[in-house]
Amino acid sequence: MKPLQRAALLLGACFLLSSAVCRVNGANIPLSIVPPGGLDPTNTPQICLLTFDDTVTTTGYPVIQTVLTNHFNPNGSPIQATFFVNTDNGAWFNARLVEQLYAQGHEIGVHTMTHTTDTNTTEEEWRREIVGCRKVVSDLAQVPENEIVGFRAPYLAFSQGSFDILYEAGLRYDSSVEEATHDYGPSTNNTQFIWPYTLDNGVQQECTNGICPEGSFPGFFEVPLWVLDDIENDTMATMDQEFAEHTNWVYDDLMLLLTNNFLARYNGNRAPFGIFLHATWDYQWFVSEPWHREVINDFMTWALDHTNVWFVSTKAMLDFMEDPQTLEEAYTFPPFITSTNHHVLVPEDEVTEMAYAGIGYILSSVTPPPIWPRTTNFYTGWKMVEGGVVSNWLVGSWSDQFEGIITVSNNTDYTIYDWEAAFLVENGEVTNFYGTPFTMTNDLCTAYAYGGNMPIPPHTAYTNLGSGTNEFGFRGLWDGTNQPVIGPAQLTVYTSAMPEPAFTNFTISSSTNMAFAWNEAAVGYSIERATNLTETNWTSITTIYTHTSWTSQAPDSASPTFYRIRSVY
Ligand SMILES: [Zn+2]
Repeated sequence: MKPLQRAALLLGACFLLSSAVCRVNGANIPLSIVPPGGLDPTNTPQICLLTFDDTVTTTGYPVIQTVLTNHFNPNGSPIQATFFVNTDNGAWFNARLVEQLYAQGHEIGVHTMTHTTDTNTTEEEWRREIVGCRKVVSDLAQVPENEIVGFRAPYLAFSQGSFDILYEAGLRYDSSVEEATHDYGPSTNNTQFIWPYTLDNGVQQECTNGICPEGSFPGFFEVPLWVLDDIENDTMATMDQEFAEHTNWVYDDLMLLLTNNFLARYNGNRAPFGIFLHATWDYQWFVSEPWHREVINDFMTWALDHTNVWFVSTKAMLDFMEDPQTLEEAYTFPPFITSTNHHVLVPEDEVTEMAYAGIGYILSSVTPPPIWPRTTNFYTGWKMVEGGVVSNWLVGSWSDQFEGIITVSNNTDYTIYDWEAAFLVENGEVTNFYGTPFTMTNDLCTAYAYGGNMPIPPHTAYTNLGSGTNEFGFRGLWDGTNQPVIGPAQLTVYTSAMPEPAFTNFTISSSTNMAFAWNEAAVGYSIERATNLTETNWTSITTIYTHTSWTSQAPDSASPTFYRIRSVY
């Protein structure tokens, strides 16, 4: 069979993006209940997905391995699973284990940094959660950014914003929309489930958990969460939480649900079959009882005993959607050949464990950052300011406490905006850092000074003793016997900044695409619009955090509209 012709069209914006990820539009694959590429179901490989959501932990990892290591696809490759991971959800981020899963040939996808998103999450927050998660996984778990292409929304709570940002960030698919059979849509029964489809015509499912996005996302896939729908026995379940809700179920009940659903697909239209699990904590269904993983394990053995059954990663399945393979061709299809040597793992004794007081720890084969990566800092990357100085001194001390001030000097030639300062405290403990979040790691106290902190102009120093959120002093505790020693440390900023004021005007008077680009990857740019240059109330039309460019359809208007880029902080 000839592969579907792929459009492989580079969008104009790609030339301007600083990110390594650049969207390449794939084929338009409409919603369908027949296999792609005109394949007859009997000549279509039966694809099965096994996915795990949430943080990868030392609790869940060995349990997960019990169902991954003993199964092989028809071509002899180890099976592939998909992990949608968090990086800031709980007391740690074990990047080392994520790296191991990737090295074993599994797919790593995004499940947000914090697992706190919902249908009310703003576009800006989605951007930080999605792009930040991808960046942290890429930097600390060593998974190449362009291999992190999939997303599942926490609680399956997706929205317009999640889809807009997934598309903007160049991801390839969402997998958050449940697909049932009873009430809606072309999936009329469990032998005729829909296949994955691209959103050239938007999301075409019911969106029971989220808010269906409007608009078209050409070449971007939705991978439905196909429910396990055993009509004969009147049971339904999508994810493992629903297995847990059936407290009266025993091994045979679940095996019947799995096998009946599998056979419905296998003897039906061969739409993919999915098992959607969680294995982070002791109490979760998959981890809590040995028979729970036994039934999954036994089911997989049983399913793989059928001819032409494959457990592959979600993105390998999408490669198949874009380039359909017959039963015979599937054996040599490169995405179905599991790569188990993505890179050589660093020896265990070279893994760094970094503790973050009050937060948790990071385990990584690369050196973790000095500050916990969170949505408010890490997404822009780290950059040391050469020429930045932190100095500090005590302004008062008592028998059990002390107070001090920090002065942050900016010796660079440009204004710094989102900055962070660290200082050392010995024989004492900092308890308050006025108006500024801080963490204390051993003797190192680190202040976060994002959002609302004062910018520091070139070659000036910042010592704000005024009241309010910008006050930059601290209070500490000590035992009264040792004078606290406070020493200077480095100044770090997350971003360089455009010269101030950073206005650039554009005039748009036709319905062509307009594109803005600038040199530095920086946080905090607002694109504003007005109908004349003397207007005082420019309207912000978008705020950009991680880009160096922005493209939009210009308004179709005969009268000129003016645009400008303004730095914000
Ligand atoms: Zn989750």
